[in-house]
Amino acid sequence: MQVLKFGGTSVGSIENINNVKNIINDGKPKVIVLSAMSGTTNALVRISNYIKNGRPEKAIEQINELHVHYFKTVDSLLTDKALNQDVKNYINTIFNFLVDSTYESHSILLENKIVAQGELLSTYIFNCFLTQEGISSALLPALSFMRIDKTNEPDFFYIKQHFEMMFNKVPEATVYITQGFICIDDAGNISNLQRGGSDYTATILGAAINADEVQIWTDIDGMHNNDPRHVENTRPIKNLSYDEAAELAYFGAKILHPQTITPVRADNIPVRLKNTMNPDAHGTLITNNYSENGIKAIAAKDHITAIKIKSGRMLNAHGFLKKVFEVFEVYETPIDMITTSEVAISLTIDDDSNIDKIVTELEKFAAIEVDTNQSIVCLVGHSIVHHPDTFKLFQVLQDVKIRMISYGGSNNNISLLVPTVEKVATLARLQDYIFRLIA
Ligand code: ADP
Ligand code: ASP
Ligand code: MG
Repeated sequence: MQVLKFGGTSVGSIENINNVKNIINDGKPKVIVLSAMSGTTNALVRISNYIKNGRPEKAIEQINELHVHYFKTVDSLLTDKALNQDVKNYINTIFNFLVDSTYESHSILLENKIVAQGELLSTYIFNCFLTQEGISSALLPALSFMRIDKTNEPDFFYIKQHFEMMFNKVPEATVYITQGFICIDDAGNISNLQRGGSDYTATILGAAINADEVQIWTDIDGMHNNDPRHVENTRPIKNLSYDEAAELAYFGAKILHPQTITPVRADNIPVRLKNTMNPDAHGTLITNNYSENGIKAIAAKDHITAIKIKSGRMLNAHGFLKKVFEVFEVYETPIDMITTSEVAISLTIDDDSNIDKIVTELEKFAAIEVDTNQSIVCLVGHSIVHHPDTFKLFQVLQDVKIRMISYGGSNNNISLLVPTVEKVATLARLQDYIFRLIA
């Protein structure tokens, strides 16, 4: 069995929904994971923020706009009168809930319920569309099986057991549709896998059912060698290893949720990235194989905070690093990059929710400097640190404002820390020099 995930753009227009239908309509049983239609989750986040900021009238305005948009979409998609009415009734239930939410006071639970509605809408609509088109499908509600535990990790045992239970209730279907992104937490409340989380849903499910392959269908022909939103002349990469793809996803390649690769790598389940608008393009195949060495791709991650920790007493003092790490451990804050000298450590974090407390603790034994608005620019490739081409990187560095560099932490990754205002220029410069010089 294969798991196919379709992102927001793929289900965001009538034309693309028809593309999705053609892609999945080969008679083979499969699991389909859908995102919300493009723009919907952002609109739901805005609604929640209006409620939080005491602007219910603005929330209602946004709700009404979205409601009209959904009715229009359904009128274009569902010509079958009964199905059209059925879907409109469902849409009305959802929008009544949204309107009722504007009378409530804001909480994280309410916010999670609000942002969950996008995937509930897209899957309901798509399921009815397949019925209209004569394709035998069943809707398996993600909130009945997709659960995370206290540490926000997927509860694989529960997911497998409950997915199979739901699946076995409708053995006759060919296409099993479920919602990406949304889940329940350990207390049974509606939660989610963070923005972009439908990719993660697909690989969690892929691992749970031991799928033959997980396909992530999106609006671009696979993982490119640099961020196409910021850099010209990027090109798709045909093959990536799990390690390479995981590094790129973690360090900001938006095409994949940062955790996407984690569930499937141990079981060696291939992940294929494909373009819904151009299904014949090869896309990117992610497996255990390393196809070639050297720099393959560059990605960047924003909202990084750099912390410099300086101690006069670090000189020859063992135990200093331990003291520093303990502070980050207490506040459950992962460190991404780290460099050391005799008298100072520089490190980076992307979760700055406890930064004030961390700084207060560190200041008890060191002088601290904090720089916000930094970006990690990450160069990825198998054995990149040993490859002769990699040294061309050093020809480029004179033109780039680098705050930190991490080389050799892993064989597959070289990370540069730059101020975010320099990010786009850095990506472009690296693209120009490295891929032109390597080519
Ligand atoms: P979906 O809604 O299908 O999940 P996303 O917007 O989350 O799609 O991801 C696809 C987008 O990721 C692309 O349109 C592209 O702009 C962006 N992107 C960023 N970095 C890369 C990269 N290295 N390769 C391909 N796409 C990338
Ligand atoms: N709809 C969610 C989001 O926009 C999840 C996803 O698209 O993967 O973040
Ligand atoms: Mg996405």
